[in-house]
Amino acid sequence: EEKKSLNFLEQIIEEDLANGLPKEKLRFRFPPEPNGYLHIGHAASICLNFGLGLRYNAPVNLRFDDTNPAKEEQEYVDSIQHDVQWLGFNWDKVLYSSDYFQQLYDWAIEFIKTGKAYVDNQTSEQMAAQKGTPTEPGTDSPNRNRTIEENMELFLKMRNGEFEEGSHVLRAKIDMKHTNMHMRDPIMYRILKRHHHRTGDKWCIYPMYDWTHGESDYIEQISHSICTLEFKSHRDLYDWYLDQVVDADKLRPKQREFARRNLSYTVMSKRKLLQLVEEKIVTGWDDPRMPTISGLRRRGYSPESIRNFSEIAGIAKRDNVTDVALLEYCIKDHLNKTAPRVMAVLNPVKLVITNYPEGKEEFLDASYNDYEDGFGSRAIPFSREIYIEQEDFKEDANKKFFRLSLGREVRLKNAYIIKGESVVKDADGNVTEIHCTYDEDSLSGSGTEASKRKVKGTLHWVSIKHAIKAEVRVYDRLFTDEAPDSYKDKDFKEFLNPDSLKIIEAFVEPSLKTAKVLDRFQFQRLGYFCVDKDSTAEKLVFNRTVPLRDSWAK
Ligand code: ATP
Ligand code: MG
Ligand code: MG
Repeated sequence: EEKKSLNFLEQIIEEDLANGLPKEKLRFRFPPEPNGYLHIGHAASICLNFGLGLRYNAPVNLRFDDTNPAKEEQEYVDSIQHDVQWLGFNWDKVLYSSDYFQQLYDWAIEFIKTGKAYVDNQTSEQMAAQKGTPTEPGTDSPNRNRTIEENMELFLKMRNGEFEEGSHVLRAKIDMKHTNMHMRDPIMYRILKRHHHRTGDKWCIYPMYDWTHGESDYIEQISHSICTLEFKSHRDLYDWYLDQVVDADKLRPKQREFARRNLSYTVMSKRKLLQLVEEKIVTGWDDPRMPTISGLRRRGYSPESIRNFSEIAGIAKRDNVTDVALLEYCIKDHLNKTAPRVMAVLNPVKLVITNYPEGKEEFLDASYNDYEDGFGSRAIPFSREIYIEQEDFKEDANKKFFRLSLGREVRLKNAYIIKGESVVKDADGNVTEIHCTYDEDSLSGSGTEASKRKVKGTLHWVSIKHAIKAEVRVYDRLFTDEAPDSYKDKDFKEFLNPDSLKIIEAFVEPSLKTAKVLDRFQFQRLGYFCVDKDSTAEKLVFNRTVPLRDSWAK
């Protein structure tokens, strides 16, 4: 019964434990390449690996897979650490593949000395031509049978910077006729005369991913090396490389694969996200429209909502696309339970309460959450002139319109019942002011008969004199297509949504004056909003995280 709730990777681990793997040998890692910011796909891998760590009380390393100095930067290392911690996870150690460059090099020398590796100086085209196809075997390189001495000499020259980039590689000598193409004498080292963000100019040859990854797992004694499906076909090579180095008394890591997390209406490859950043289509990696962890954070997503999303979306053995609506559901669900509820008007029209004394103001007690205890309350100012949403008023409305119209009553949230009396219009016939009367005995919570009167609608509002002007950034999906990068003949950028950002000048209740960056709120009847990092004491800026209801389904 317990089995049913285990995902397939947990089942593999349970079997390994049942077959004698000591529990204290369990160890996992999350291995990002520091060539970009983490995205919601990485969150799947983070939640999975760190989740296993929590479940089995086993250490999880954060390992930077930094073998390609051309694309890697310290900025990315820093952001990745921040994002993993923000998601709520603690690693055992921060490690770098580059820490193992010397060990990998020493092993490579062993390979050469035992006839398991050779230097090839053909062009990449020549090597590709010899590679064969999935159905046809490859052919041997003319350099495959160099002597050990020759290989040693050439490899040392590679290492010493005596050759040009691209002129020589070190290849594992496996089998050019192997049915798995990855086994056809894969490249172990290439020359890259690049400055590395950690090792500086110490190296000008860099190990390939396949050669690095499994050996790094072995060095760290990772019991289960979990990666995404595209590496399944690399598993033979992962195992072959391990076979050459594993000591019998040490743990041998096991690679297992799960399906990448894809999300609808966005792209997830770092290469494409980088393009959006570099071409200034978005304002940065943390643009609130980006599927990055930093973008989601800035948008108002909580770590809890992202963890919950990962949990509900689950892990799969086959490629699939998760509906972004599930992610939106998860943040709505969390904010519904946690965000204080306040009032803001995004599309204001002036409303005058003609029988409310001029110059009078009162401060009404308003709970931050009418349904749950523990949220506390604040005083909100009320006065003769307020803003309501334009959409909340219609001069003549049918019976189904439960908001304000002439001759009908609504309640102002936390305040009084008002009745529409007349309108003032501009030359074009647009309503510029709504005139109402109020029932002065109807104050919410005052206990009077009038306060208990049932009226159909309740509107949010702000007092004009007291409201604070704020910038509100209303986001929509960045792409108009569910799978913008799924078309062979079209670039994903053809599907950019031109209306993905709307900037609105809004009015918010004065209690928000002290709100801090990343604070999250429900703007009643509108949605969830959080304070953007551009916000200042002079100018509040909010991001709309999600609307309360979906307007997307047109
Ligand atoms: P990208 O194509 O976005 O560059 P990547 O796999 O090259 O992705 P890495 O930094 O190497 O990015 O990924 C670190 C870890 O996160 C790897 O174990 C990788 O398999 C996993 N990962 C990356 N993208 C996803 C995803 N979309 N879903 C699940 N896991 C992912
Ligand atoms: Mg990678
Ligand atoms: Mg990558």
